[in-house]
Amino acid sequence: MSERIFNFSAGPAVLPVPVLEQARAEMLSLPGVGMSVMEISHRSKTFDEIHRGAESGLRELLGIPDEGYRVLFLQGGASLQFSMIPLNLLPAGASADYIVTGSWGKKAVKEAKRQAAVNVAADMADSRYSRVPDQGELKLDAGAAYVHLTSNETIEGVEWKEEPETAGVPLISDASSNICSRPLDVSKYALIYAGAQKNLGPSGLTLVILREDLLGRVPEGLHTMLDYRTHVQNDSLYNTPNTWGIYILNLVCRWLKERGGLEGMARENESKAQLLYGAIDATDFFRGHAAPEARSLMNVTFRLPSEELEKKFTAEATAAGLDGLKGHRSVGGIRASIYNAFPREGVEALVSFMREFESKNG
Ligand SMILES: *Cc1c(COP(=O)(O)O)cnc(C)c1O
Repeated sequence: MSERIFNFSAGPAVLPVPVLEQARAEMLSLPGVGMSVMEISHRSKTFDEIHRGAESGLRELLGIPDEGYRVLFLQGGASLQFSMIPLNLLPAGASADYIVTGSWGKKAVKEAKRQAAVNVAADMADSRYSRVPDQGELKLDAGAAYVHLTSNETIEGVEWKEEPETAGVPLISDASSNICSRPLDVSKYALIYAGAQKNLGPSGLTLVILREDLLGRVPEGLHTMLDYRTHVQNDSLYNTPNTWGIYILNLVCRWLKERGGLEGMARENESKAQLLYGAIDATDFFRGHAAPEARSLMNVTFRLPSEELEKKFTAEATAAGLDGLKGHRSVGGIRASIYNAFPREGVEALVSFMREFESKNG
């Protein structure tokens, strides 16, 4: 099979076709190099240019301030950041605020608790993780080391539309599943991290954007690889980074710029999500999980009248070339992940499939 199908996977997820085509063209030899990116030193001039390109691409797209912020390409996934953040930034005896809007936020709390006190400033469990808290619902601690949130909960499909006010306490965001899906005011954050495999590239690469002044808080004695200062001082080259991942990320950044940058992406993402939520709202047969004001533009979660129908829906969708629609095992239902690279035609195909499925089974 050489035809591409519509890939609604939550991650690793669909990549832009022009990026895959360029990677294919350069698989045996980068132009003028005679070797692929996977076969050259991470300290070579060729890789250095790719690395610089990826960093400057992200800086330009996200408007990362030139001064005061560092861009790191690490490994261990967003999951390792659940540990590195408290290890580096939450001293014993201090406390951090965590806002829990879904499954990933819960995992972040679990690791932070090993290090020091965690104040859960809000946990949206009562809403079955269908919304984000209002400012008034947050029990923030003015003395917290930082406030941690998950900007888009990939499993529940719940997204923050605006940052909470933290009164000067450093704000940290797990942006794994909505990074680069829309413009972001990086200057509001002390640290932003994201596993690459949703919106930026392949798995095995983790982006960390951090404000340099945070490094002053890192305690002495951390293991070298777990200390942010190691990666800052060595420009993410203390050990061998995921060179392939950085190469693909560089191509994705170029593709994003050609599509009108993050403003262009935001318009496309809004319009794709509107189309799908519109189809969900058009009938009682489908029920959206997230509260309308917290609906994710990246992961659209919904239910059908019964689990049996949901099973049938995903099976028939897969057969029709709409892959990866089964909701996460923890929440069930249907999840359509429609990241930056997911084509609008795929959303249109899903919407007509939904209409047809309802008319046969409703
Ligand atoms: C996928 C995901 C993670 C986990 O990422 P890994 O790279 O697998 O560790 C964490 N947080 C969010 C929001 C995610 O979507």
